[in-house]
Amino acid sequence: MLSGHRETDPVRFLKSIRSKIVVFAILATLVPSLGLGLMTFRHNQHVIDEKVTYELRSLAGYARREFDLWTQERIHDVRSLSTSSVVIDGLDAIAHRLTADDSIEAPALVLYLRSVCARLTPLLELTVVDTHGHIVASSAATPAPVQLPEVWPQSAITEGVILAPPYWDEARAVPTLTVAVPVLSIDNEILGALAAVLDLRAVQPQLKDATKLPPGEVILLDAQGRPLVGTLPITSHSMPLQADVLRRLHAQPGQPFAFQSFDRRDVLGVADTSREQSVTVMALKDRVDVYAVWRALRNQLLMLIGGLSLLVGLLAYRIGRSIVLPLQRLIGAAEHIAGGNLAMQLPAARDDEIGRLTRAFNQMTDSLRRGRAEIEAASRALRRQNQLLERLSITDGLTGLYNRRKLDEILTDQIARYQRSRRSFSVLMLDIDHFKPLNDSHGHLLGDEVLVHVADILAQSIRSVDFAARYGGEEFVIVLAETTAQDALDTAERIRAKVADACYGTPEQRISVTVSVGVAECREADATAEAVIARADQALYQAKDAGRNRVHYAA
Ligand code: GH3
Ligand code: MG
Ligand code: MG
Repeated sequence: MLSGHRETDPVRFLKSIRSKIVVFAILATLVPSLGLGLMTFRHNQHVIDEKVTYELRSLAGYARREFDLWTQERIHDVRSLSTSSVVIDGLDAIAHRLTADDSIEAPALVLYLRSVCARLTPLLELTVVDTHGHIVASSAATPAPVQLPEVWPQSAITEGVILAPPYWDEARAVPTLTVAVPVLSIDNEILGALAAVLDLRAVQPQLKDATKLPPGEVILLDAQGRPLVGTLPITSHSMPLQADVLRRLHAQPGQPFAFQSFDRRDVLGVADTSREQSVTVMALKDRVDVYAVWRALRNQLLMLIGGLSLLVGLLAYRIGRSIVLPLQRLIGAAEHIAGGNLAMQLPAARDDEIGRLTRAFNQMTDSLRRGRAEIEAASRALRRQNQLLERLSITDGLTGLYNRRKLDEILTDQIARYQRSRRSFSVLMLDIDHFKPLNDSHGHLLGDEVLVHVADILAQSIRSVDFAARYGGEEFVIVLAETTAQDALDTAERIRAKVADACYGTPEQRISVTVSVGVAECREADATAEAVIARADQALYQAKDAGRNRVHYAA
């Protein structure tokens, strides 16, 4: 729970060196890559836009040319038909014979027109009219009315005219175009005209040929935007192009823009309305196809950038880890050292700054360890010295028993205890008998030996809670803790006997050594150590007086 919170805290996350390295590396990869990618995209889009504009204009231009060519060819066909003697003679005969009668038909002419219509595919209807536009003969049972121009243009003699702009013939469910050519007599007098209704679908193969390269689609629209014919299949149900789209196409001919075509596809299109408004030639390209390459490039680039960022991120993570892990080990080790644990040694195999830092850290730890070992050794030596000094300050140099100064402390302490707990203690005062003559006759060295021997007997004859001290010269004091007079007398007697029974001197020359002992028990009235010592001393004198080598109690 807590660690989860730590990981999701962005401030904490960014404080870590490893995270900083990773974030920096990813940004350093992403920013230039995305910048470069954006520039490439913009450039590509511009190139694609220019290319598609060029292609659409070319398509519309080709389609326009094909349509014009086809129209001219068809007019030529009709013109050829108009020179047929059947047409000329038929019209001539009717013109000279029946000037005012509309209803009279030339049966041979009708048959001829029907036969031609049946043979030539794009022809839907052929009608012959006189100079006033009255129908003389037609292949259709109910021919469409023919509205001839008031004055034939000069070119009409050779080129014919288009009588009506192309439109969708609902009755036939086909797009049609009506053309007319004048019918001339042999002396070039206009006798009337031959009008033809053409099926515009016949132009489709040419349009398809024109749109193979560059690939795309073309559609011919009437003035209202109704699709007539094109490379796409067009039926009676085909919807006209939206009015605003048509307006825009007309307003900016040759300029591509995106819109939804009548078959509901997103397309880019241009219009060629260069010559006349009655037919709009529109070239289209599917937007999905146009930008397919661009999208593929974009996806590749995004994948490349994504892959690169991942790779760089991983690399940065590894670098960050290689820095942070040794640092964390160093921090952990430093914390151990701060806590007093100097037994730290870190692996320092690397040859970089981290490796040098780790080696320096290890050296520092070594120095600290050595310093601490030296301090500990010095302090141990000092402690030993102090203990020695303390022992020396309280012991007698010759016998090893407590000295007079320590005895004073012991007695003061015993009196204080006695006054607190009323638990009695006793003091024995011992003096070696006739020690001066011993010294005099055997020498001081032997005298010293005797002193040491007697002191050993004393030390071995008391309990661990008791104390033995050299009072001075050949005199000793024993303090028996929590001991009454009777027990003290027993102990004194035991010691006296031990001293007397021990062997002194050399086997050849045995020396007799005895001690006299004065015993005193602490009393309520004893305020100081001297008071008890004085009574024990008095008892010692009494023992001496009584003949030595005996124990006396100070009553
Ligand atoms: P008494 O039986 O009455 O005690 O007679 P004493 O000879 O033992 O008594 P005294 O006080 O006359 O003599 C004590 C002698 O102890 C005098 C001195 O030379 C000797 N003495 C004192 N200290 C030392 C010492 O440290 N070493 C030696 N060898 N002799 C010492
Ligand atoms: Mg003495
Ligand atoms: Mg003596």
